[in-house]
Amino acid sequence: VSRKPLTRIGFSIPLNRWMLVRVFPVGTGMLIMANDASESVVKQFQLAQKIVMDPLTGLGNKLAMEQQIIALTKRDRSFSIVLLGLDRFKDVNDAHGYAVGDMALLEVVSSIQSATVAAETLYRFSGDEFAVVSEAADADLALRASALIQAVKHPISLNDARVVLGASAGTMNCPRDGDEFEVIVKRAGLALREAKKSGRDTVAAYKPEMELATQMRSVLEGELRTAIDGNQFMLMVQPKVSLATGEVVGGEVLIRWAHPKRGMLAPGVFLGIAEEIGAMVTIDQWVLKQTLQFLTELSDQGRHIPLSMNLSVDSLNDMYLAERVAKALSDAKVNPRLLEVEIPEGALMFDVKVSSKVLTELNEMGVTISIDDFGTGYSSFAYLAQFPVHVLKIDRSFVNDMSNNEAGKKIVKGMIRLAHSLSLEVVAEGAETEEQVTMLKRMKCDTVQGYVMAKPMPFNDFVRFAGNAHANTTPSAFSI
Ligand code: C2E
Ligand code: CA
Ligand code: CA
Repeated sequence: VSRKPLTRIGFSIPLNRWMLVRVFPVGTGMLIMANDASESVVKQFQLAQKIVMDPLTGLGNKLAMEQQIIALTKRDRSFSIVLLGLDRFKDVNDAHGYAVGDMALLEVVSSIQSATVAAETLYRFSGDEFAVVSEAADADLALRASALIQAVKHPISLNDARVVLGASAGTMNCPRDGDEFEVIVKRAGLALREAKKSGRDTVAAYKPEMELATQMRSVLEGELRTAIDGNQFMLMVQPKVSLATGEVVGGEVLIRWAHPKRGMLAPGVFLGIAEEIGAMVTIDQWVLKQTLQFLTELSDQGRHIPLSMNLSVDSLNDMYLAERVAKALSDAKVNPRLLEVEIPEGALMFDVKVSSKVLTELNEMGVTISIDDFGTGYSSFAYLAQFPVHVLKIDRSFVNDMSNNEAGKKIVKGMIRLAHSLSLEVVAEGAETEEQVTMLKRMKCDTVQGYVMAKPMPFNDFVRFAGNAHANTTPSAFSI
């Protein structure tokens, strides 16, 4: 079965009243021993084999892993687990078909297998996930996991091409991180998800916070439904300041969740959940209504400052969006020119046909359209020129980079020049220092929105702030 020595841990499967087979994971296979040697035993062996072995790779499956973990938890010593997830293996299957995918998988398994040591057993955990269980706790588990990831990166052949797959890993030291199979499996999965989130070829060790985050998530999910009905949202407004005149030339409304127990929550905490539960269109509608109310209040005071709101991908792909915006504008009797919608560059590219239809309708209505987080969505200027866009908001990361290096400065300068050549107004997001403001002024950027001018603030403060144009550059005490 394998040239590697037999691992000490085995497990037993009672097949019937008289017969018990013991299974030992060895290398890529299993050693099965029974207390009966009659002819029919062969059949029983095959049955036992099917239960615990992955037919493609010959590795132990999740059940085999469970048996070993149960045996390990009964001892009084630590053991460790590395859960390896192949990165984008689905793409290989999609592009080359399952037969080639299977061959690739076998090559990967053989590479990982040769990187394992005697005390380690490799299991096929699920389609593209493999678990390496070590009977001994590893002092530097992250290093061990990195070595296993490196093994995955051994080039393999796909049809005529040689490709290198990647992997991420979640690690656990048990029993510290879990002493029951189901719990261990769940937590190893959380660690792997965390690793995948941080990019390819990364390792994440399980931390109790990971479980708290998922618990928090499900609690928030429940509470979010109440928040939507219970009016717990509010909008802050962040001023946009003209670099030429120092005047407040607009404001962006940003949502906050005034949570009855948890205090003021930033959108980063709950918008992802809202998106998952399909609540974004409802939230965007609420924001629209509230923004129009602000615009009415401003107009009543004789101040015609435009306000911008953010649109989610879901809204942008909503066929009725333009119709709804038109109705809301006419109900509120607000001049459409005072309403601006911000669309993240990435969202624009999600479904080009629908977004271009929605944007054209909004544009015809007189609504201003700006591209948010520009530079992060990998679109080309040529492509952008096809959309009816009026404003380009350079993403904060580029504005920050200006202070760090010459190249960063050149990129922003290039973006501003190109945007102007397309007759777009340019807003620099997230400027935090006077130095950045000076640079942006020199580059002829039109508008700045960032902490250096003001943080997001309650609407009433914004009205006051706009009235004191030039004067007030200190962040509002109320902002979060
Ligand atoms: P965004 O549209 O890019 O909004 C700008 C974000 O950058 C805001 O974060 C703002 O507080 C922050 N910011 C502004 N200036 C600075 C600065 O100088 N330094 C730093 N570090 N940050 C700065 P916020 O309010 O947490 O919003 C985060 C994101 O949530 C927004 O990014 C937007 O994508 C989304 N969002 C916020 N409100 C809404 C909403 O009402 N509807 C929808 N669909 N999305 C929203
Ligand atoms: Ca925005
Ligand atoms: Ca932005």
